[in-house]
Amino acid sequence: MIRHTALAALLLATAAPAFAQADMRNLTPMQQEAMDDNLAYAITEGLVTEVGHRMAGTEDEARARAWAEKKLTELGFANVRIETYRMPTWVRGKETAEVLSPAPQDMHIAALGTSGSTGDAGIEGEIAYFPSLSRLMAAPAGSLTGKIAFVTHDMRATQDGSGYGFAGPVRWRGPNFAARAGASAIVIRSVGTDHHRNPHTGGTTFDEGVKHIPAGAISNPDADTLERLVALGRPVRMKLVLTPKDLGMRESGNVIAEVPGADPGLPPIVIACHLDSWDLSPSAIDDAAGCGIITAAAKRVMAMGQPRRTIRLLWAGAEEVGGFGGEAYGKKYGDQPHALAMESDFGADRVWKVDFNLADEALKEEMTLALAPLGIERGDASAHGGTDVDAIIAAAKPAVIDLAQDGTRYFDLHHTPDDTLDKVDPAQIAQNVAAWTTVLQIAANHDGAIVAGEESHAEGQ
Ligand code: ZN
Ligand code: ZN
Repeated sequence: MIRHTALAALLLATAAPAFAQADMRNLTPMQQEAMDDNLAYAITEGLVTEVGHRMAGTEDEARARAWAEKKLTELGFANVRIETYRMPTWVRGKETAEVLSPAPQDMHIAALGTSGSTGDAGIEGEIAYFPSLSRLMAAPAGSLTGKIAFVTHDMRATQDGSGYGFAGPVRWRGPNFAARAGASAIVIRSVGTDHHRNPHTGGTTFDEGVKHIPAGAISNPDADTLERLVALGRPVRMKLVLTPKDLGMRESGNVIAEVPGADPGLPPIVIACHLDSWDLSPSAIDDAAGCGIITAAAKRVMAMGQPRRTIRLLWAGAEEVGGFGGEAYGKKYGDQPHALAMESDFGADRVWKVDFNLADEALKEEMTLALAPLGIERGDASAHGGTDVDAIIAAAKPAVIDLAQDGTRYFDLHHTPDDTLDKVDPAQIAQNVAAWTTVLQIAANHDGAIVAGEESHAEGQ
């Protein structure tokens, strides 16, 4: 396969209105060079091709760690190292779903992380339908005994990804409430915005002492079918076979690399992505692309001469099944001051907004003006980072900057078999690198202190 060229990137850029050359006329040479750089794409391509999917705690993640360590070393970063920790490890087994009556048919299902097993024989049960999570939460204890709960929702695509905040709890918490009401299993409508027969996996959390019942997501078109079957008014029976396994505590690890700052007395800037992924796809947008973006940007800052502050890259080893990588980093480094924390974990589409949790108004203004030629506006939300930096933000209270990516198509692909390299637009991922380079170059060389704003860190997720 021929690597895309600057010309191809330019043609793509011309095709997308957001990247028309006319809109990019005020780019600085630094930004133009980043727009012409394909390193973020190349890292993404390498990880998904040479490693593939990488479930945290498994051999696949260990291979990814070795790949990352070698890549970051080759790129010239300093202090490249793996920092291991142990974590509960869950792996997928067989998974099938079928409607037995009133109209026998197969459905496409994926088990949710930490789901229990049906055993090889599977389980059968009548569907108990819930049009929303709140209805399921109201189901009395014991009312679902012997039943398979089915919960739906109406998630819509949005630029800021806010549909996930609305529909996400169906996956995060639905299985817990179904188990509490006595259900033998739960099937949810995939938390996604596509209309393909791809189930969306993802993590779910059971409260302490609550049985991990078998829990799966069916594709959106299958959920449509199941809703129509329920609407016929006759009992709907399903059979599920889900045989995931808990492997107990296994080794996972963060990969860390640095651009050493000229003044070792200054607190570092930490920039994060996650190396692990779900297992249904090579996971290009979640989050190989994030690792490509932060790394390409740090490399560009390094190439411009030694910055004042150290930039530390954190490729977190486990995010998807629980934020164990970010927690391990926070535990190890939480007593050391950090100037700034940032994360890239929302795909590879263009950055459209910047939010801050930063005290220095002049610094915010400087960054906002510098980002404007890239088509990025200043938002009015308080930056919160993300799972990989939550623990260090809570412990060290650094400033936080969010470069918000366009999430319009993110949840079409998120955690599906369809999260593949062809979904990454070389021109848009390069715009991310230009935005990250712009912010990092200013922050890493800023004369004054970089401190968090008045905003409450408790609002972080
Ligand atoms: Zn992610
Ligand atoms: Zn994810």
